[in-house]
Amino acid sequence: MRTLYWARNDLRLGDNAALSDALTTGATEICFIVSEAQWRSHDMGDRRLGWIHHALQAFAQQTAQLGVRLHVIEIPWFADVPKGLLELAQQLSVSKLVYNAEYPLNEQRRDDAVDAALGAAGIEVARFHSNVTLPPGSVMTPAGSPYRAFSAFRKRWRSVAAAIGFEPLPKPQPVGAAIPMPRVEALAEYAHTIDRQVWPAGETAAQQRVKDFVEQRLREYAAKRDIPSVPGTSRLSPYLAIGAISANQCLASAQSLGSQGEAWTNELIWREFYQHITALYPHVSKGRPFKAEMDRMIWRDAPVELAAWRAGQTGYPLVDAAMRQLTETGWMHNRLRMVTAMFLTKHLLIDWREGERFFMQQLIDGDFAANNGGWQWSASTGTDSVPYFRIFNPTTQGQRFDPSGIFTRRMLPELAQVPDRHLYAPHEAGIELDYPAPIVDHKAARARALAAFGN
Ligand code: FAD
Repeated sequence: MRTLYWARNDLRLGDNAALSDALTTGATEICFIVSEAQWRSHDMGDRRLGWIHHALQAFAQQTAQLGVRLHVIEIPWFADVPKGLLELAQQLSVSKLVYNAEYPLNEQRRDDAVDAALGAAGIEVARFHSNVTLPPGSVMTPAGSPYRAFSAFRKRWRSVAAAIGFEPLPKPQPVGAAIPMPRVEALAEYAHTIDRQVWPAGETAAQQRVKDFVEQRLREYAAKRDIPSVPGTSRLSPYLAIGAISANQCLASAQSLGSQGEAWTNELIWREFYQHITALYPHVSKGRPFKAEMDRMIWRDAPVELAAWRAGQTGYPLVDAAMRQLTETGWMHNRLRMVTAMFLTKHLLIDWREGERFFMQQLIDGDFAANNGGWQWSASTGTDSVPYFRIFNPTTQGQRFDPSGIFTRRMLPELAQVPDRHLYAPHEAGIELDYPAPIVDHKAARARALAAFGN
């Protein structure tokens, strides 16, 4: 029996249920489909494409050592994937196709169409769930419906996970002699967008990062995870987004430190929560707010302010430093994602979908479920979002999380001379600055947001 494993955002050999299934059933071929036009329509930016290129290269090397052939094919739009994949399957004479599920709606529809097309041609298809620890549908309320709030989901998730455990599947053994590594040309034009010192691609790099983080920094995660000037978090998000490592492998490592791994485990459960929300509430994939009543919200059309936010020119130093971290490096600290998202949706009252799109275009770790979940949380349109009246003050957030301005001054060198006590209100320092005055007044903006959300 010959099986085709269709790799997607799961570019790893270890803890990969679909790949393991293929290898245990018989001869295996692997394919990866590049759908650039479709991905662009989902707002995937150059960096995320560059990251796929590097991850794919690392994966090509691994699969060659495994002794299995990797076929990288380009099918620009999902609609043409069933036909293209059927042709490939027939060309390779496979009798079975396996893959790990993806949960956004267009991906689910593509996969359903693939299942139907291959099924009609007599090719067996099996779908696995290796990109989450617990598959959507396995963490439900006692009444059998999906959870809508994180804390209840987490409680149930923990009890289901405790019963199952997090035993990751082992890395498969080579099936034969190593074969020559295929050249990966796809998306090579974006390769330069990735700083490979900061983000070395591939499964081996991801595993090293987890190991270093768990051994050296996990114990201090709860204390340092909100401080953007220090590497207090794992920076594994790009690896999880491309599947160079699984959530299950991360959770299993965290378990080794017992209760010291709890705070980090919690964040990984947030990841699972948003994956489940995406899978079980398809309207979020259609650009709709999770809470239907928030469809009525009237957002401001303010292109000049939106441009200032994107450019890191709002006059609020923490917001601007964060936005420059995003546009200059393709990654942003979690605390700052919340601060900037809330600033856009509350202080500027600009539609969260504008921010969601811009983040997606910039991020290396862009992931529909986490990004949509994070934006809807910040905009108070989501599951158990932040209550609309709890509006972060960007000045006090700066004073609290970057009091000596190490991060802020690193990203905003134009504020280098401003003394600490004026850093978050630099225009009060009485020195000439090449830096804009605040584009909105915090108190007035807060009052405007309360009125708009309260209606
Ligand atoms: P750690 O703190 O080390 O956490 C470990 C992993 O858990 C992360 O890598 C991530 O996979 C997951 N995780 C942590 N926090 C969250 C969370 N709140 N929601 C979902 N998963 C989480 N994360 C993305 O991976 N891709 C995105 O596109 C994305 N967009 C976001 C947009 C907004 C507005 C907000 C508020 C959050 C967003 N997040 C996103 C979640 C979070 O900010 C990042 O996962 C985190 O900053 C990545 O850093 P880390 O790997 O060091 O995280």
